[in-house]
Amino acid sequence: MKKKMIILLIVGILIIGCGVFGFVFYNSKKLKIEYKNHITLNVNDEFYNTDAIKKIQNGTLLTKKVKIDTSKVTDSMYHLKVKNYFNKTKKIEIKYEVVDKEPPVITFNPTITIEEGTEYDLLTGVSATDNCDELVIVVIEGTYDINTPGTYELEYMARDSHANEAREKFTLEVTKKVVVEQPREGYKAPDRDFTTSNGHHGTVRDGITYIDGIMIANKTYPLPSSYNPGDIIGYVWEAFTEMKNAAAAEGIYFDLASGFRSYNYQKNLYNRYVAQDGKAEADTYSARPGHSEHQTGLAMDVGKVDRNYGNEPGGIWLAANAYKYGFILRYPYGKTGETGYIYEPWHFRYVGKELAPKLYNGGDWITLETYFGITSEYTY
Ligand SMILES: [Zn+2]
Repeated sequence: MKKKMIILLIVGILIIGCGVFGFVFYNSKKLKIEYKNHITLNVNDEFYNTDAIKKIQNGTLLTKKVKIDTSKVTDSMYHLKVKNYFNKTKKIEIKYEVVDKEPPVITFNPTITIEEGTEYDLLTGVSATDNCDELVIVVIEGTYDINTPGTYELEYMARDSHANEAREKFTLEVTKKVVVEQPREGYKAPDRDFTTSNGHHGTVRDGITYIDGIMIANKTYPLPSSYNPGDIIGYVWEAFTEMKNAAAAEGIYFDLASGFRSYNYQKNLYNRYVAQDGKAEADTYSARPGHSEHQTGLAMDVGKVDRNYGNEPGGIWLAANAYKYGFILRYPYGKTGETGYIYEPWHFRYVGKELAPKLYNGGDWITLETYFGITSEYTY
């Protein structure tokens, strides 16, 4: 009887022991996963599916590491598979959201200066780029009046399709209209800054107009009578010599026909033409004093002052090659409406080796006036 009891007791202990052991063993091998089941990402964040998992205990990940597409705003989910110690698989679901919190970036000019009454599109050169949207519209906020000189504080605003907004302040200066007076001797246009009709930056300093640093002398923009470099400017003469030598090496010869002309020289020349042909006719081929490019020291007549020069070897060579030396054919054929002058195959202007090829435009000359968005018209 006692023996039986002992056996039963031992069996009981063994059963309980097995149970305890089983329980302890099972628990020590239980799969434990620490992970984030809801993830918020920004557009273009780098994120891999497996990044959601912090820790796996007693198991292995079966899903391969894959990059999550965060290029677009979305609300979605993906699954990961994990195998436990006993080879059983478990699926976990991860919700993720891709959000756009980034506003567009506006490219703009913080200060725009225009002259009273000038029609100018304040969105010229303004653009907005966004991380999600291909096209973001920029609008102008604030009020202004191009006919009332003053300083206007305005704002560019751009909003992307996820309601992220960018705002940039800019200043519009409307300056008093400057009436270009007859450049009588001693007259000097007042210093000012302005923006041309296609957004180039103009300045008047010491009576001389520059656009993007290029000196301008045409029918709208005169030089003061005091501006007198005395001769063709040194570096222009060097460029001309280089060009002349290059042509000579190809058996083409030309020389300077007319170089620098002072205000007074031009005055006498112009008055002589007016006496000969009348003012209207003279204005088509000769500049009024102060309006001649020859006064800049940057322009010259080359070869022959003759309309047919463009069909002669020298004129043909110059039209095709001058730009390489920084010169432009200043008054091209068919561009009288822009330059204010008839075709002059002999008149070349130095603008530098950077701008000249752009104006050459593969032989279809772009005039300085069109390039800079300015006029060439007498206002008196
Ligand atoms: Zn000329």
